Amino acid sequence: MALRNIRLEDDPILRKKSRKVAEINERIKEVVNDMIETMYEADGVGLAAPQIGILRRIIVMDVGKGPIVLINPVIIKTAGSQIGLEGCLSLPGVNEEVERPNYVQVKYFDLKGRAKVIEGEELLARAICHEIDHLEGILFTDKVKKEII
Ligand code: ZN
Repeated sequence: MALRNIRLEDDPILRKKSRKVAEINERIKEVVNDMIETMYEADGVGLAAPQIGILRRIIVMDVGKGPIVLINPVIIKTAGSQIGLEGCLSLPGVNEEVERPNYVQVKYFDLKGRAKVIEGEELLARAICHEIDHLEGILFTDKVKKEII
């Protein structure tokens, strides 16, 4: 395992769309382990592969119940909404309120290549949406409500 450099806001890779993982091989497993280590070292709740410069559809998260790894995640259902403060390891020092679904259901593959579904509410739903946005080249600051004063 190794720590990876987290790409910061002006890095063009953060604006690119990630490609699906075609095969879960040793290299992908190494990337996942490095992502988890890098996320914990940076004290983050989640990390997406493009944040370490890898344009593959992989996200890792830990909202306090242990690491979650989602490969090729796709949101299949959302419900409700929540507004809360968000931050991002690629945008240090920036916290803004973002509206997200309060519930999401996501299909994905685990590290053994098994098709699975995860449900998330509140913080987990927020984290999943935030990280999946990274796979599309979207940063949370793109979604901040612009209030007219
Ligand atoms: Zn982020």
